[in-house]
Amino acid sequence: NPKYVIYCGTKRMLYPKPETLNPPRTDVLTITPWFAPIVWNGMYNSDILNAHFLQRGVRIGLTVFAIKKYTVFVKTFIETAEKFFMVGHRVNYYVYTDRPNDIPNITLAEGRQLVILNVPSYQRWQEVSMRRMEMIRDLSHQRFNKEVDYLVCVDVDMQFSDEVGVEILSDVFGTLHPGFYGSDRQSFTYERRPESQAFIPADEGDFYYAGGFFGGTIEEVYKLTDFCHNAMMTDKEHNIEAIWHDESYLNKYFLYHKPTKILSIEYLWDNSFGVPDLLKRRRFVAVPKNHEAIRN
Ligand code: UDP
Ligand code: MN
Repeated sequence: NPKYVIYCGTKRMLYPKPETLNPPRTDVLTITPWFAPIVWNGMYNSDILNAHFLQRGVRIGLTVFAIKKYTVFVKTFIETAEKFFMVGHRVNYYVYTDRPNDIPNITLAEGRQLVILNVPSYQRWQEVSMRRMEMIRDLSHQRFNKEVDYLVCVDVDMQFSDEVGVEILSDVFGTLHPGFYGSDRQSFTYERRPESQAFIPADEGDFYYAGGFFGGTIEEVYKLTDFCHNAMMTDKEHNIEAIWHDESYLNKYFLYHKPTKILSIEYLWDNSFGVPDLLKRRRFVAVPKNHEAIRN
């Protein structure tokens, strides 16, 4: 907890001074060439950030899709979010589902609410995944803009296991994919067919971003999701679908619209990859699933 002292009627927060000549992390990249921070444990002080965002009265929307059998993930997702996601801030959970009756009743902390959004499902799991862009886009201008300041858009087959707070917030942010943080460009699984709107040439690309965790202000998320949805629709007209679906279009977007912040692998980890030395916290981890059984 932050250390406060009252001095002559003024509340002051005391914390160690940043050390210009002693950077907290030297084992990982902490800033991009376009000066966007990459968020790693040790690089920030939550007390300073929380005080700043509480003063602004920030409201955060967390969107998640639970279509068909994926409703089984909702309980753990929300329960662990109550423990670790933006604790102390105002949070709206937006759960898009075709099975509203399967969404459990969960008691939430003060200042937090769950909004169930009844939507149609699609037959193919790829289409379910991709259509998230359209559904987030549509509600951004119809609803989210009136209710929250930032949107955080994530996969539902996940659980929080450590703090995810306001350090992630920025105009538009993406997350390093846990499978490719050490890879070179050529190994990124970008869409490589020039016919696709998601095409990225072999000699371009900064990072391989994960489809399962992005966000930003409502306006920036609107622009991102609108771009991705339109690119998908253009490809659909030409009977082509990008190799990794929404993730491929997201990577295309971030190449030419640079994110203003990037979340490290702490924010999207899969324990089947083990625990590398540089990974000090595992904040949001995949829940193991049987792909065949859950998608069909
Ligand atoms: N999803 C869903 N129902 C489905 C398939 C996918 O709700 O039948 C949503 C769900 O939010 C899921 C996301 O789409 O987390 C992405 O799919 P998935 O997690 O299966 O992709 P992976 O993480 O395995 O690449
Ligand atoms: Mn997933």
